[in-house]
Amino acid sequence: MNIKVCLAVLLALLFTTSLPLEAQSKLTVIATTEDLASIASEIGGDHISVEAIAKGYQDPHFVEAKPSFILKLQKADILILVGRELEIGWLPPLIQQSRNSKIQVGADGYLDASLQARILEVPQGQITRAEGDVHPLGNPHYWMDPENGKIIAREIFDKFVRFRPNDRAYFEQRLNSFLGHVSDAEKRWIDMLAPYKGIKVVTYHRSFPNFADRFGLDIVGYVEPKPGIPPTPQHTLDLINEMKRMNVKLVLVEPYFDLKTPNAIGRATGAEVMVMPPSVGGVKEVTDYFKLFDYDLNLLIAAIKKSGAK
Ligand SMILES: [Zn+2]
Repeated sequence: MNIKVCLAVLLALLFTTSLPLEAQSKLTVIATTEDLASIASEIGGDHISVEAIAKGYQDPHFVEAKPSFILKLQKADILILVGRELEIGWLPPLIQQSRNSKIQVGADGYLDASLQARILEVPQGQITRAEGDVHPLGNPHYWMDPENGKIIAREIFDKFVRFRPNDRAYFEQRLNSFLGHVSDAEKRWIDMLAPYKGIKVVTYHRSFPNFADRFGLDIVGYVEPKPGIPPTPQHTLDLINEMKRMNVKLVLVEPYFDLKTPNAIGRATGAEVMVMPPSVGGVKEVTDYFKLFDYDLNLLIAAIKKSGAK
């Protein structure tokens, strides 16, 4: 075969193999948070484009709705949200104003990732928001348990297959690979924390109950009197007394909260105050779902050793 024929064959091959991809454009996926975007990207690979609305260093309960978010939503085939009313303060008007019928509540492209996940702190009895509670339907920070990460991944897979049935094998291979990686990493993470099982911590907001449950931490109090309510002097005083009584030496603070009260608590109790992201993108090192747990667990262990906490 001479060079010209070779080239012609190569070109023909390239052309025919690239046709199906060109015929079917990438799925456009918008996730409300970087955590969901990271998991979606693991499953979707280069068959999707995915962007997050809220950044991991922002409080996901209180995101400033920008016109640029509406533009993103206008182009979306699929919207993935955390649900449990995490985004209730900012997402509904954006969805409505996008006028995109594919992602309206209940439409095919609307995926509430919480529906199959294990949700903690589900209120019993009458649901009330009278005291400003931002967790009226249970704790919405459920992605902080890797087992829930697997459940979210399966839901995303189902949705992608529904939109792109011809890509099932591709998505399935990526899903299985993700599930395997999470299982392997989870064993390693649980082993890392095993020597410190039952260690007592205080957190600013209730972002970590699923994380604590999976990795054996004992959360004994919160800097916020209620989820979404800033600290009050009386609550802070009660918390300091309780921490002294129980010898709590660790305070976990999400990156978007003021450190003034946590630092005062640290000074009063001798506790280590650590900024611990509950989301991908919360600090620059945490660029995907795996790095989130790697980073947080390493940070926690360093603080435990430094504080001499038990
Ligand atoms: Zn919350």
